[in-house]
Amino acid sequence: MKTINKSNILNMIRTYGPISRSEIAKKTKLTPPTITNIVSELIESNLVRESEIGISKGGRKPILLTINAEHSFIIGIDVGGHHVRAIMADLNAEIVVQHRTSLPDNLTNDYLLQALIEVVQTIINKANVSKEKIIGIGVGMHGIVNYQEGIAVFAPNFHLSDVPIKSFLEDVFQLPTYVENDARALALGETWFGHGQGIENVVCVNVGIGIGAGIVINNRLFHGQHNIAGEIGHMIVDINGVECSCGSYGCLQTMAGGRSLRDRVIKEISLGRKTLIVNKVKNDLTKITGALIHECAIEGDALSTEVLKEVGSFLGIGVTNLINLINPTKVIIGGGVSKAENYILEPLSAVVKQRALTPKARETEIVLSKLGDNGTVIGAVTLVLQNVFSPNLEK
Ligand SMILES: [Zn+2]
Repeated sequence: MKTINKSNILNMIRTYGPISRSEIAKKTKLTPPTITNIVSELIESNLVRESEIGISKGGRKPILLTINAEHSFIIGIDVGGHHVRAIMADLNAEIVVQHRTSLPDNLTNDYLLQALIEVVQTIINKANVSKEKIIGIGVGMHGIVNYQEGIAVFAPNFHLSDVPIKSFLEDVFQLPTYVENDARALALGETWFGHGQGIENVVCVNVGIGIGAGIVINNRLFHGQHNIAGEIGHMIVDINGVECSCGSYGCLQTMAGGRSLRDRVIKEISLGRKTLIVNKVKNDLTKITGALIHECAIEGDALSTEVLKEVGSFLGIGVTNLINLINPTKVIIGGGVSKAENYILEPLSAVVKQRALTPKARETEIVLSKLGDNGTVIGAVTLVLQNVFSPNLEK
């Protein structure tokens, strides 16, 4: 009971701070002595501090409480398709330092774990923050993640399975570590700091090399029985389609993921289509990236514009299916491909407007991630924050 009261009060201060003890009493219906006791503990553990004096409504001016954001720090890691990105952030998810390292194509479990150690160590060295002030590590990992045990169960784009990220990092750094699928981490980050704030039912689609969705139902991340809920990249949209990294055929990812963008361009070039891209990569088609296609679209290249719009339409199919399945208030699009907003969002929304089930479903709000490139790392930080501020939620 005390833990629940503690996290309630902490959440009140996070959401409404600076706030007085008596305001907390009104909002939580806890007794003043309980609040005084718990607040003292929170101040002692440096999570909360007393700040400016509030406006008096007659009598003594109340002392206001606020989160002691710069006293504690969290390391957030995003394990993406080709890189590991890490940040250190304070309790308000303000980034203090960041670091990024590339991953090779032939990744092994050991290599990935060593890379994680390296980025964490680099971040700690760069930040110049004393070790006691670091309260945890959060990891947003591509693929299927057993979040209870912190194991990357299956990472199809890396061809890795059963990577014990949590136990490994906890052994090395002696810091509590939380691991979650990257799309779910992104969804959590958006509900705390982005466009998902205050929304009970929201879906966040992370479009990179793979496509995953973080589903929040009644304010809680939905995992499903075996942590595969939200894997819309592997929703089969063409029974006669091409092979996917998961081993199946015709998955949405093969038509709307980052790699499909490149494959479409290469196919058209091989059919003799003229495009700016060929000059930009000096005829080396292996150098084509999503970012380059976007750049060429901005410069007016017809093929680039066309493939981005095609991908947008296919994403629209995936999002329409999601809307019909989950019926969220809002859909948030994040990840690499989402950067090409001007080319992708319109065809995506057009498909939803045309094909979702009911008039209300067709009007579902679709927005780009507020956190942008930092979405997954901030989401990873939020994994730790969630355990500090509302430990009763995910256990
Ligand atoms: Zn697949």
